[in-house]
Amino acid sequence: MTARFHDHCALITGAASGIGLGCAQRLADEGAACLVLADLDPEGLEAAANAVAREGLAITILPGDVADPAHWAEAAPVLSGVTLGIVNAGITDNGMIADMDFAAWRRVLAVNLDGAFLTMQALMRAMGAGDRGGAIVLTASASGLKAEPGVSAYAASKAGAIQLAKVAAREGAPQGIRVNAIAPGGVETPIWRKTPFFQDLIGQMGSEAAAFAAIGAHAPLGRFATVEEIAAQIAFLLSAESANMTGAVLVSDGGYLL
Ligand code: NAD
Repeated sequence: MTARFHDHCALITGAASGIGLGCAQRLADEGAACLVLADLDPEGLEAAANAVAREGLAITILPGDVADPAHWAEAAPVLSGVTLGIVNAGITDNGMIADMDFAAWRRVLAVNLDGAFLTMQALMRAMGAGDRGGAIVLTASASGLKAEPGVSAYAASKAGAIQLAKVAAREGAPQGIRVNAIAPGGVETPIWRKTPFFQDLIGQMGSEAAAFAAIGAHAPLGRFATVEEIAAQIAFLLSAESANMTGAVLVSDGGYLL
């Protein structure tokens, strides 16, 4: 694999699982000099750090809640020198609007939108203080672009996050900070396990793999994305190969939005 990120330091939120963990692996494989792995799950972070560890790679783990401003105040010194950022931590909680618990709505908005804002702010402060600019990718979702019943909080949070990324792209451009978003459709990650709907589907289909195959079949390409595919696309948006791109939303959904 090429070493596109040689000499670069990256912050990844939601790094203990799924897409964030896949990105940590990808950046390590592509020669990153240091990784700051952030997540709510301290044990998952330890496991992620062990999984991606290699000679010449400095890894710092940053346990804490992305939605907590105090977490980012404490983290500021660790982010000095960061030139790449993946604003990725996220949760979902489904329910029809008429039935949705307000506390659940607020928690989804807190993590996916407040958390994205605070992460973006920390990154832009760190990159703005350096002299190398930077590149940031925000993990949004096709749900931020298309309405489906039952996902009001998640869809609203991701639509907001897309606009956050675009404003950040305008604000960062004079300092050489690029900001793009990726909008995946379905991706095979543990986030699905937390939804009762997917648990029911696993029960019906007999296994998680069969449940992913069944739900993925609804997209024109007939399957969900893999973590490795999304990580490779995020790596492209962070790399010099996309040096003329900022404020873009890369839709990666197997045709779901068509
Ligand atoms: P995942 O559940 O595997 O990983 C999410 C990680 O975020 C977990 O490690 C979790 O501990 C962490 N996290 C959750 N709340 C946090 C908080 N408050 N502070 C810090 N860390 C926190 O899920 P994933 O699918 O890898 O999700 C990554 C991102 O991709 C999310 O923003 C999600 O909305 C987005 N996304 C996922 C899919 C999909 O189908 N999997 C599709 C589109 C977008």
